[in-house]
Amino acid sequence: MEEERFDIRNNQSGEKEFENALRPLAFSDFSGQDKIVENLRIFVKAARMRSESLDHVLLHGPPGLGKTTLSNIIANELNVGFKITSGPVLDKPGDLAGLLTSLEPNDVLFIDEIHRLSPIVEEYLYSAMEDYRIDIMIDKGPSARSIQLDLNPFTLIGATTRSGLLTSPLRARFGINCHFEYYDAKVIMRIIKRSARLLNVACDDKAATEIAGRSRGTPRIANALLRRVRDFAQVKGNGSIDHEIACYALEALNIDKYGLDEIDNKILTTIIDKFQGGPVGLTTIATALGEDAGTLEEVYEPFLIKEGFMKRTPRGREVTELAYKHLGKIKYGDMGTLF
Ligand code: ADP
Repeated sequence: MEEERFDIRNNQSGEKEFENALRPLAFSDFSGQDKIVENLRIFVKAARMRSESLDHVLLHGPPGLGKTTLSNIIANELNVGFKITSGPVLDKPGDLAGLLTSLEPNDVLFIDEIHRLSPIVEEYLYSAMEDYRIDIMIDKGPSARSIQLDLNPFTLIGATTRSGLLTSPLRARFGINCHFEYYDAKVIMRIIKRSARLLNVACDDKAATEIAGRSRGTPRIANALLRRVRDFAQVKGNGSIDHEIACYALEALNIDKYGLDEIDNKILTTIIDKFQGGPVGLTTIATALGEDAGTLEEVYEPFLIKEGFMKRTPRGREVTELAYKHLGKIKYGDMGTLF
């Protein structure tokens, strides 16, 4: 029987309010991604000194690493308004026009999942980004005509987990381009300590380190795990989180020792069981899993490679000894030595 796992990645809807409460609001609260933050501090300061809008920013990287959070911080640090929308929501040019015309000078417009914009909306965005101007069609039939609307200067911040899907004209219109990396366990531990402070729950360093190690290098997962562990501490313990209660809770939630989630484990298992551990091509793995090759490459694979479970070779993807050990599997070539 397949064990029931706590699906932390798909547990997002109920977590929104909680996430917002823990969202850092200034650069100084935002841990990690040092290079990105360092550069953005300079760009923001320069834009403020010139009283100009910040150049358009593209943030890309796997989900839950802080793209929305950092965009919000940029608007705060610029001391301007912040409007938020997402690619799939903006399905008509009229929706985009409405949003753009409502922006005050130098405001930030954040478009999440920008790779999912419809081509027609994307087309409108080009002139808005470049010349702060849009052409809209009014009326229909013979009286239809196009009018030009001038917009206030603004900053578009686009976020995407799949930068490979962005068209080159759109990508070229972003002056600032930042790639988010998974966080080191040490930084995640700092984030957990901060969140525990905000939640008013005591959490010792050893417990925070344990939770951090299982957070898949992702602040969103770290915060969600902290919330669950807090429940265990309240019900099964004395309310504060120590190493013992953290381990008990993580065990009960079936959280992988390395933070790998169900899909991570499925990828490794598939390569081992169906392709003798590799090397095997990315599209072959994707087909075997029924996943999209681009998602595998941009969303899942970077973490597995970073943690040493998998490597990229010229002949394809290959799992490492660590993956066999972690999954309790025996390497194909080593079978003979067993008998
Ligand atoms: P993304 O937009 O990349 O999917 P979010 O910005 O929504 O990720 O971040 C998810 C959660 O993780 C937020 O609630 C935020 O509190 C937390 N978070 C993300 N990055 C950081 C960070 N660097 N420091 C502290 N908390 C963070």
